[in-house]
Amino acid sequence: MLPVQKNDRLDVHIHDLTHEGAGVARVDGYTLFVPNALPGETVEIVVTKTNKQYGFARLIDVKQASADRVEPPCPIFYQCGGCQLQHFSYDGQLRQKRDRVVDALKRLGQFDVPVHETIGMSEPWRYRNKAQVPFKDEGGRLVAGFYRPRSHDIVEMKECLIQDERNDVAVQVVRDVLAAHNVPAYDEKTGRGVIRHVMARYGYHSGELMIVLITKTTKIKGVNEIVADILKRLPDVTSIMQNVNPDKTNVILGSTNKLLYGHETIEDKIGGLTFTISPHSFFQVNPVQTEKLYGKALEYAQLTGTEQVVDAYCGIGTISLFLARKAAHVYGVEVVPEAIEDAKQNALVNEIDNVTYACGAAEDVLPQWKKDGINPDVIVVDPPRKGCAESFLETMVEMAPKRIVYVSCNVATQARDMRYLADRGYKLVEVTPVDMFPHTAHVETVAWMEKVK
Ligand code: SAH
Repeated sequence: MLPVQKNDRLDVHIHDLTHEGAGVARVDGYTLFVPNALPGETVEIVVTKTNKQYGFARLIDVKQASADRVEPPCPIFYQCGGCQLQHFSYDGQLRQKRDRVVDALKRLGQFDVPVHETIGMSEPWRYRNKAQVPFKDEGGRLVAGFYRPRSHDIVEMKECLIQDERNDVAVQVVRDVLAAHNVPAYDEKTGRGVIRHVMARYGYHSGELMIVLITKTTKIKGVNEIVADILKRLPDVTSIMQNVNPDKTNVILGSTNKLLYGHETIEDKIGGLTFTISPHSFFQVNPVQTEKLYGKALEYAQLTGTEQVVDAYCGIGTISLFLARKAAHVYGVEVVPEAIEDAKQNALVNEIDNVTYACGAAEDVLPQWKKDGINPDVIVVDPPRKGCAESFLETMVEMAPKRIVYVSCNVATQARDMRYLADRGYKLVEVTPVDMFPHTAHVETVAWMEKVK
């Protein structure tokens, strides 16, 4: 028998926040997750779901509010799954993100090392350079929106306060134009319809704007008129692409791109370097914080100009080019072919010739490089959420660089991977969290590890 049942109403104390931004309460040793509740608060809840180990509850009333509770400025904050922390003061968010990093390092990596204050934004709104917005049909009306938390139910969105205004406007204009041309929304359940998502990507420094229409079908009826209408209303657009994704899948982009107008890429700048970006390529979404993140990675790499450096999971080669200006040679590896093409192009555009790029899985390419006699002094890694493959870590240890800089968007897998390295001769020196995604529960970290003599 559990201490609480579904539909129970009770008052609880919130003592923590999960990595997804939900409040954590304990009732007779049983854990309840309460979205929208903050640490230190006493809240009235109703239990919505119970599992053996833990359950979920909905916030009904805040009985004693945290000093960090603020009014969320976005009108759909409580429905939309995009942000989780708009009800939390920004200072509070930064503190809490640091606490979470300290806790994960300790719990999952047995590390007790200096963790700096989270590097935050002075203006933490309107920071995103990329919008990816799903579409639906609602009673014959084409609606753009975001998913509710843990669901594919779309909440209508007219503006998104963490999105650059230009992307916001672009998405609404494209919606209007598609609606005027009676382009039907894709329906996940029936597999019918045309428009799945609209992506808008804005070059923060270049001012270039790319629009990608992600469709179920290859054909869009009236596509030439649609493109002309978009351009009439958005003269800043430099690229309109169609991406076809015919599959029943949660993955947003399909494999084929078709150019409808302008260029196949847009450009942007970070730290004085120019980058070419394709629809499929990963590019950090917060340009202001990206400079701080890469700056920290570069600081931790401590290059003097003589080093051989590996940049693993290099994307379009952003960190690689930052490093290359201060190193003898940089080797970048990335699994997405379009990204590596962009990376090569970016080296050319920036006239940087001391980089070599390879396309493939880092865990396959690194052993090859080792065989080829490449001997890095420093390895920088920036893997996706699941972290590094163990075989990759193993090769890294065999290569024995004197320093490893680990950039991560998931401190849990980072702590796990760094524990592997720490058990094999690397000391974790310090960690800096960087807030790349204000008002969401995500936190990015940069860690510095040094080979023990
Ligand atoms: N350092 C880059 C990209 C980081 S995102 C930047 O800051 O822009 C992580 C990247 O790892 C993505 O580009 C993804 O395509 C790539 N990736 C994912 N799994 C990989 C693997 N097994 N080997 C190499 N790259 C991988």
